[in-house]
Amino acid sequence: MVNQELLKKYATLTIQVGVNVQKNQLVVIRSNVECVLFVRELVKAAYEAKAKNVIVEWSDDYVNKEYYENVDEEVLKDVPQYVIEKNHYFVDQNACLISISSPTPGLMKDVDPNKIKLANIASQNKLGFFRKFTMSNATQWVVVAYPTLAWAKKVFPNCDDEIAQDKLLEAILNASRVTKDNNPVEAWQEHMDRLAKHNDMLNKYAFDKLHFKNNLGTDLEVKLVDGHIWGGGGEYSQKGVYFAPNIPTEETFSMPHSHGVNGKVVATKPLNYQGKLIEDFYLIFKDGKVVDFDAKKEKETLKALLETDSGSSRLGEVALISHDSPISNMNILFYNTLFDENASCHLALGNAYTMNIKDGNNLSEEELMKKGYNKSIVHVDFMFGSKDMEIVGTTKDGKNVKIFINGNFVF
Ligand code: ZN
Ligand code: ZN
Repeated sequence: MVNQELLKKYATLTIQVGVNVQKNQLVVIRSNVECVLFVRELVKAAYEAKAKNVIVEWSDDYVNKEYYENVDEEVLKDVPQYVIEKNHYFVDQNACLISISSPTPGLMKDVDPNKIKLANIASQNKLGFFRKFTMSNATQWVVVAYPTLAWAKKVFPNCDDEIAQDKLLEAILNASRVTKDNNPVEAWQEHMDRLAKHNDMLNKYAFDKLHFKNNLGTDLEVKLVDGHIWGGGGEYSQKGVYFAPNIPTEETFSMPHSHGVNGKVVATKPLNYQGKLIEDFYLIFKDGKVVDFDAKKEKETLKALLETDSGSSRLGEVALISHDSPISNMNILFYNTLFDENASCHLALGNAYTMNIKDGNNLSEEELMKKGYNKSIVHVDFMFGSKDMEIVGTTKDGKNVKIFINGNFVF
């Protein structure tokens, strides 16, 4: 049974801290049909926060699967004009966006990855402006999670359906600092202050590069772009509204140089990409590009991801997370990067965030790329943190500073 009080608190947190809905603002919610109980609470909380209107865009993974399996390539490659116009309307209205992460793991495993790639490219070409609208923080946006039955059974395979769903929701709420006897809005304000302190420390060092090493075989040097900014926790939209783009979040992240990554990184958790689970993989980088890789499972999917475009084999994000974090302490594999990425240090293949470089939102794409910004239609996080991870930062004048010892921040 869903605890209605907790669900209400979770919705209030999402509306007040996550997107921080402003008076008279349009709210867009993108949700799987299985999240209806949560969406109803979100809509109530949004109107309580004086939203002008709340538009819910429903989707269903099983319907999507039928679509990928049955339509012609010509249809896959097309984005109907009404969809484009709807997204323009959202931008013109300065809507804020709530995306609910509620995957159906494994559902797409028999769908040709090439078809998914075609649809992604079409979507980027026609709807890239909307992606830019959120990724550049022109407006407030948030990703929160809610269980689907398939996801819950993946995480808790030995439980009955309802118990599995209850347990996953409980873990999601726990990770999101929503508990019976706390005020999650206040808890999050404190949490975001803590993350801001970490960002400040790293920003003051302004490291030239980071060196990651552990016993699994990771030995990786990541050069950071000049003028990089460490972010995480709360962010300001371009209109000055403070919001929290990920619930939960534990990460402090920045921008690697797209041509300055060298060495080997060994993943420590499976990567759920487009409904497929890539397991036990490593990547070898030379001058920023993946030159060799292997995976015990779904190597073809990893290959398709790396070959999506010229930026999908380079890094767009490096994130530091202490091994001793609430999500990591629960010791549950969520099969969802929103959670698993917050249990562990991670890297992302693909697009970088313009907020991670000084003046990033004002520079042209060409100027950004000259500085080492990576451009791609994908942004895919994978975990490589471990309890023995050591990280050393090197400053521009060659001083080495220990950042992580035994998997945790030293400062
Ligand atoms: Zn991240
Ligand atoms: Zn990421």
